[in-house]
Amino acid sequence: MSEIRVRFAPSPTGPLHIGGLRTALFNYLFAKKNNGTFLVRIEDTDKKREVAGAEEYIFKSLNWCGMQVDERSSDNSHRQSSRKKLYQAKAKELIKRGLAYYAFDSEQDLQRLREEYHEKKETFIYNWKTRKELKNSLTMNKEEVASMLAQSKPFVVRFLCPRDKKVNTNDLIRGKGSIDSSLIDDKVLIKADGMPTYHFANVIDDNMMRISHVIRGEEWLPSLALHILLYQAFEWDPPKFAHLPLILNPNGKGKLSKRSGDSSGFPVFPLSWAKETKIGGFKEAGFLPEALNNYMASLGWAAENGKEIMSMSELIKTFKLESVVSAAANFDFGRLQWVNQKHLTQMSNDALAEKIVEISPETNHVEKGRLMIAIDLVKERAETLLDFWRLMKYLFYAPEVFEEKAIVKLSEKSKAILEQGEKIACASENTSMLNEGEGFIDACLGWCAENNIKAGQLMMTFRIAFVGGLHGIDLKKIVSFIGLKETCARLKRLKKLLG
Ligand code: GLU
Repeated sequence: MSEIRVRFAPSPTGPLHIGGLRTALFNYLFAKKNNGTFLVRIEDTDKKREVAGAEEYIFKSLNWCGMQVDERSSDNSHRQSSRKKLYQAKAKELIKRGLAYYAFDSEQDLQRLREEYHEKKETFIYNWKTRKELKNSLTMNKEEVASMLAQSKPFVVRFLCPRDKKVNTNDLIRGKGSIDSSLIDDKVLIKADGMPTYHFANVIDDNMMRISHVIRGEEWLPSLALHILLYQAFEWDPPKFAHLPLILNPNGKGKLSKRSGDSSGFPVFPLSWAKETKIGGFKEAGFLPEALNNYMASLGWAAENGKEIMSMSELIKTFKLESVVSAAANFDFGRLQWVNQKHLTQMSNDALAEKIVEISPETNHVEKGRLMIAIDLVKERAETLLDFWRLMKYLFYAPEVFEEKAIVKLSEKSKAILEQGEKIACASENTSMLNEGEGFIDACLGWCAENNIKAGQLMMTFRIAFVGGLHGIDLKKIVSFIGLKETCARLKRLKKLLG
């Protein structure tokens, strides 16, 4: 196979959304699987839509996800805006060869035509049907054109789209197709500000950067025929194409949007983006980049061996572009949480501690050794890094509040239970953490049996005293962790509350 070179070509118009990030990932996996090159090109030709900081955000996000960029020029040539002259020269080349032309129609003229057609219930298209009646270098004589250019009158360069030509397309995911070129308009190649359009710059760059495979979102599929025509105009071999399936909102309606993330409470960006979203990014929400990559890979693809939890290197090994499906994938936040939970349990406690301390500064105040034990105790239950502190806080601090729905479950008997627990716990001076829980709870259960008190009632009362609610890990483990002295103190507090 010849050299594999792929590119991720975002426009810096805002933060990188999970849709774009998944495109980057599939490019990255394909490149790494085939010992190829993954390059990033910034498509910044639409200056009006450019957003400050977006480019930096894109590179930061790729870095956080562990997608190393193999090619990113130091001379800015990865930014299309720095290659303006090149595109203009290429446009001139096509004009010379009669494959493109200057058009001088003003925006008002075109708008008027659109309205006129609209009234006739038709759509105005600048193409073989209409171009003969418009103001362009095909209808004007040479002198007129030269004079317009000499006077720096505004112009665009349009592609002379051939008529009645069957354009064959081939997509690695969707198979073959064909389109009648007569249906395509004479697309603008160079805009009035001298910048190339997306289509023109994209095709030229993919050729000049020797891209072997164009892997991008499905929204670009309708442009494929035009791109093929441009390759043909330049007499270049087109790369291979793969258009990835859309990612839809969880309910399957519409493309996944920030709005639906905001309203359902999940992020859509890898990292937080200024004040743009109240939710922040996946990083701030406690997701591991490994888990996000793993989940994103499942949006349109599945490993042939059925394996669901994979590291980046496993993804690279198993990824196959041919097995990407064309059907759109619904974003499933619950599944991402599950994948994250699996990755969290696979991490060492040391590595977890480092990340937890970073995301939950409260953990800075607890002793490192105890933090490690607590991590181990709650590990199986945490779906995100943020969950850890929420799940372990009561191990370090007595509950400040008792949940109303827990308190209402207490009865007259609860007092006797608390008293007895206190008696057993406070009688012991032992505060070591080893197996205290076991001995204490067993002794209390023995008392229950003798006094005709249900074990469940005792357990629930103790849980409320230790945790402040009805959740939490095994009681024996809680007692072992907090020690009998603290156990005694917590039982006393709840008893006092009951009066
Ligand atoms: N700049 C385009 C985008 O942001 C790139 C499309 C392509 O990969 O060709 O989606």
